[in-house]
Amino acid sequence: TETEIQSVLETLNISSENNGASTGSDWLSTKGAKISSHSPVDGALIANVNAATVEDYEALIQSSQKAFKTWRLVPSPKRGEIVRQLGVKLRQYKEPLGKLVSYEMGKSYQEGLGEVQEMIDICDFAVGLSRQLNGSTLHSEREAHRMYDQYHPLGTVGIISAFNFPVAVWCWNTALAWICGDVCIWKPSEKTPITAIACQKIAAEVFAENNVPEGVSTLIIGDAEIGKLMTADRRVPLVSATGSTRMGKAVGEAVAKRLGKSLLELGGNNAIIISPSADLKLVLPGVVFGAVGTSGQRCTSTRRLIIHESIYDNVKSILVNAYKQIKIGNPLDENYHMGPLIDKDAVNTYLSAIEKVKAEGGKLLIEGTTLTGEGYESGCYVSPSIAEVENSFDIVQDETFAPLLYMIKYSGELDNAIALQNGVKQGLSSSIFTNNLREAELFLSQAGSDCGIANVNIGTSGAEIGGAFGGEKDTGGGRESGSDAWKVYMRRQTNTINYSTELPLAQGIKFDF
Ligand code: NAD
Repeated sequence: TETEIQSVLETLNISSENNGASTGSDWLSTKGAKISSHSPVDGALIANVNAATVEDYEALIQSSQKAFKTWRLVPSPKRGEIVRQLGVKLRQYKEPLGKLVSYEMGKSYQEGLGEVQEMIDICDFAVGLSRQLNGSTLHSEREAHRMYDQYHPLGTVGIISAFNFPVAVWCWNTALAWICGDVCIWKPSEKTPITAIACQKIAAEVFAENNVPEGVSTLIIGDAEIGKLMTADRRVPLVSATGSTRMGKAVGEAVAKRLGKSLLELGGNNAIIISPSADLKLVLPGVVFGAVGTSGQRCTSTRRLIIHESIYDNVKSILVNAYKQIKIGNPLDENYHMGPLIDKDAVNTYLSAIEKVKAEGGKLLIEGTTLTGEGYESGCYVSPSIAEVENSFDIVQDETFAPLLYMIKYSGELDNAIALQNGVKQGLSSSIFTNNLREAELFLSQAGSDCGIANVNIGTSGAEIGGAFGGEKDTGGGRESGSDAWKVYMRRQTNTINYSTELPLAQGIKFDF
């Protein structure tokens, strides 16, 4: 694959040695620790990056603060036009960028392309939105007064992202933040720095063609320490952070300490309820894609199945049979269903989770292992697992970011299944397979799923960009992407205008002077 990686890097204008901080077209000469990005596909070195330092961070923030002063004055539809051009450029680079995502993160090429498609879609969404950043007109209680609210940009938006969606999360945030008039500083996962460099270069091409100043799109590569600079910095009014709940708690606390805003997109523990009336034809692909797609490394991956006892054994045999047919191998070869995990640490976490399931009394129906031999040289390939467990097991309560699927039995009415589904700390994605209207509506009602995403006859995994994306409880409460998620990137101002010749006070207060 090395020559293939080289040709992808060339198309994306990336060299083998890179700097880890950029204000747009300019790259600072960073002197931090060297990060070598190896592909989980076959262990090949993709490229090196020198991480950024505190000084580089400071330079980027200064550049972004300066850029904000001009960017906020550009009319929003004109900013939208630039984001439209970014969408066009992403269409041109879709294949090499999708391929690089596959090489660096290990997801299938189809999913890599899908991630770039999400970027394109959110750009298109943002273009329309740039003419719809509307506040409301309100009726004043005072005569000859007008009142309305309007939205203004916030300033520098900090974006901290996870390895598993190395490019889409950046665009979900930037496309909206930019049309809102904000400038962005992005700290990608240190596990996927090269895809981040690719994104920055693509944005820089568009920005240069439109004379957008340096500092509107800045990139800083480094570990959690760089992220912490951002969370503690009052010059970053909003930090949008995607990653584990552990990280989100640290980020949320640091940002709250200075009364900043945070948008948190954290871990999930997503369940599918399979009711007696479920159409099992739909269940099978929904569950298998949800559990083993992206090797179980999606925040919306299916972790738990909550199955009615009357159909439990049937679902079990169908699933176990299906798992035996899963082909694991090079994610760039479409004959395989499942690629590698991100790195060997992730493999170890997966294997130790399997041991914990056993120690707590769970039964492995299919026990995953590390794969060795031809095609598996990177040491990152595993086979998936299915285990019968109790929802209350400690290990089941946690998110294991790997293809480990739990089966849990429920009896009686749907309320019992909903209680199990909600009986975890996280609240991201959920779904029910049922043909019973009453069950579907109960699941979606205020007495139903407590998650940010609740689906009927669709799995938990993946979402369209048009809806607001995010979850409750330990998932962090943030919403990004579609619907009115843009509002978090802006500050609201209430305006009252007096066009009378008097000065009446609100609430009828008299003050004679
Ligand atoms: P991670 O928490 O290890 O790292 C995420 C990012 O946070 C990285 O860029 C890391 O450098 C940074 N970071 C870590 N500690 C920090 C701190 N104290 N201050 C500032 N920055 C810090 O997560 P990961 O392993 O890259 O990603 C997997 C996790 O992300 C899973 O839990 C998954 O569910 C979650 N995720 C959630 C969503 C969502 O939208 N809800 C989407 C994708 C991934």
